[in-house]
Amino acid sequence: MKKLMAANWKMFKTWDEAGSTARVLVELAAAKLPEDREVLVCPPFTCLKAVSDAFSGADRFSSGGQDFYITDEGAFTGEISPAMLQDCGAKYGLTGHSERRHVLGENDEYIGQKTAYGLSAGLSVILCIGELLDERKAGRVEEVLERQLRLGLKDVPADVAPHRISVAYEPVWAIGTGEVAGPAEIQEAHAFTRKVLVSIFGEKANEMRILYGGSVKPTNCAEIIALDNVDGVLVGGASLQSESFSQIVLA
Ligand code: PEP
Repeated sequence: MKKLMAANWKMFKTWDEAGSTARVLVELAAAKLPEDREVLVCPPFTCLKAVSDAFSGADRFSSGGQDFYITDEGAFTGEISPAMLQDCGAKYGLTGHSERRHVLGENDEYIGQKTAYGLSAGLSVILCIGELLDERKAGRVEEVLERQLRLGLKDVPADVAPHRISVAYEPVWAIGTGEVAGPAEIQEAHAFTRKVLVSIFGEKANEMRILYGGSVKPTNCAEIIALDNVDGVLVGGASLQSESFSQIVLA
């Protein structure tokens, strides 16, 4: 299973900035990218084509959408479909990111619909899960992760190839805060996530990637990526500069 080194650029970058960041990333990282790694960048929708174009011809570099709606087209002002993302070169889509859950109000049921629809429309999907600090303090980490996994993956077609489903464990208290979960916390959460995935999908869950996200930096990536059941990282702030993201990708 190739490790997935994924960037979430959130609502940052213009077309020109995105294209040049992606081109420099390829210059810095493509030739040295280990065989067992893949790179993914999820820019704002307006920059998707710029990133896809910059990655064309770069082996194991792809682009993805940060969000999508649950139908192909229609009167849904402001929304975008998986087909439209794919038209701009996207191979992946994110669902359940904590900012969509906790800032934009998406619930588990809707996130589950998106995950299933994105997969059926041909995207590979990264379902993000993670507990709030209060939930951790109350000893509810497993309860929260299990609920988010079971509802988030509820309608996934049984015949989907396992490499098209990834889960990103992103403790909300570690996102954009500089606070990284410790190795024991990451391993526990990832082992639990694997156990739930196996209970849902059987043995093929061992071929699904579980990424860690939350203040990943060039200085901590190598240690995180070496942990059991860590099959990649999802990086926000430190992915915005090609120099720092290239160091993460190659760590
Ligand atoms: C994220 O947005 O998914 C994320 C992990 O952000 P950061 O790396 O900035 O904590």
